[in-house]
Amino acid sequence: MTDQSWGEVRENLLTTVGKNNYVNWIEPLEFSDLEGGVATFLVPTSFMGNWVSRNFGDHILQELSNAGQKVSRVEFSVPKAAAPVGKKTQTPAKPVKQSNGGGGDVPGAPLDARFTFDSFVVGKPNELAHAAARRVAEGGTVTFNPLFLYGGVGLGKTHLMHAIAWELRKRSPGLRVVYLSAEQFMYRFVQALRDKDMMTFKQLFRSVDVLMVDDVQFIAGKDATQEEFFHTFNALVDQNKQIIVSSDSAPTDIDGIDDRIVSRLQSGLVVDLHPTNYELRLGILQQKVDQFSAQFSNLDIQDGVLEFLAHRISSNVRVLEGALMRLFAFGSLVGREVTMELTEDCLADILRASDRKITVEEIQRKVSDHFNIRLSDMIGPKRVRTFARPRQIAMYLAKQLTSRSLPEIGRRFGGRDHTTVMHGVRKIEELMQKDSQIADDLELLRRSLEA
Ligand code: ADP
Ligand code: MG
Repeated sequence: MTDQSWGEVRENLLTTVGKNNYVNWIEPLEFSDLEGGVATFLVPTSFMGNWVSRNFGDHILQELSNAGQKVSRVEFSVPKAAAPVGKKTQTPAKPVKQSNGGGGDVPGAPLDARFTFDSFVVGKPNELAHAAARRVAEGGTVTFNPLFLYGGVGLGKTHLMHAIAWELRKRSPGLRVVYLSAEQFMYRFVQALRDKDMMTFKQLFRSVDVLMVDDVQFIAGKDATQEEFFHTFNALVDQNKQIIVSSDSAPTDIDGIDDRIVSRLQSGLVVDLHPTNYELRLGILQQKVDQFSAQFSNLDIQDGVLEFLAHRISSNVRVLEGALMRLFAFGSLVGREVTMELTEDCLADILRASDRKITVEEIQRKVSDHFNIRLSDMIGPKRVRTFARPRQIAMYLAKQLTSRSLPEIGRRFGGRDHTTVMHGVRKIEELMQKDSQIADDLELLRRSLEA
């Protein structure tokens, strides 16, 4: 068969498969040869080959025989000398407009230049997630698929995902690494549906080497998007391509996600980012001070300010960063040392908002756990020291860490009088000074309550 006769067959296919399919799938086929009844076509990707074979193989075969060719089979192959993966091969479909910072016509979102492994501070709460991310970023054999990262807001999920993407791109520039949020995935899916261009969508997403979908909880309750995600997911796993997914909660805790997807999401490695602890927060602050100093100018920060911030802003790293940023702006504006006083003044709103509400009940539970007594004995009437001392400690902490009045605290301790509470609080204040064991216990309890 000559190229010309293929050209004629192709025109007939236009009527058989329709314009859209023709442009996307038939036109890009390059006729290679016809030998022993096998017609071979060259395709840019194996995904495309499989797709055309499955969907249009019979049509092509039919049209070829109609044209008098002796063909019993059609085959599609990716040229051996094809450009390395990720290099822009001739795509059959019109590329989706995007910018992914890494080149190539893959529908990704831009990566934040600040989110690298270098700038990620590792501590107990995130060491597992960090180790898993590092492992995946090494590339090579896919060991766990998918990697599922979850944790609360601002704990570094997006940071880690971007870090993986940067690292992979650095190590293998040819790799098609696509990062996007689940929301963007849905948006593109809906757009493809509207444009009746699902083929392009599927082709694009199935031709990536590493797919990262951030905040996957977003597709909960969105059935069609989930279905499509599920298929994309399976297609990539079948090709042994790495998938990395993040979410605000564990796979089983995301309401409104299909069971099949939940079980798929759990089939790799599931790791969570725990809430930060004091040490990690302090580490992050110190790292940011270095970073900001290099970026802007050196700032004189009084001893204790960073510790104070790490202690008081415990919710979310993003808030912590914002606070420090503001201190820098303010400090460089007024051109003087950032003192504790300036800090409290400048961050009053943030400090107030991040005052976590600790309840008396929480304190009672923690303290009775700590001293290994029953909650009922802490609240009950027994006056033996084994119960009385922990009870006084709990009263003291309640006074320190909550805004409850003495009578309110008394009521929560089995209806005791406010003078009893006051006595308890004074007793502990006194003991703290001379008994280092009690001081240590208190410090430990306070930390764990404020964590
Ligand atoms: P998430 O996606 O989990 O909501 P992000 O990854 O967006 O959180 O993190 C919020 C902010 O906190 C980012 O600016 C990020 O760089 C920073 N951050 C979080 N964890 C760390 C960490 N361990 N080290 C350095 N910066 C961190
Ligand atoms: Mg995020």
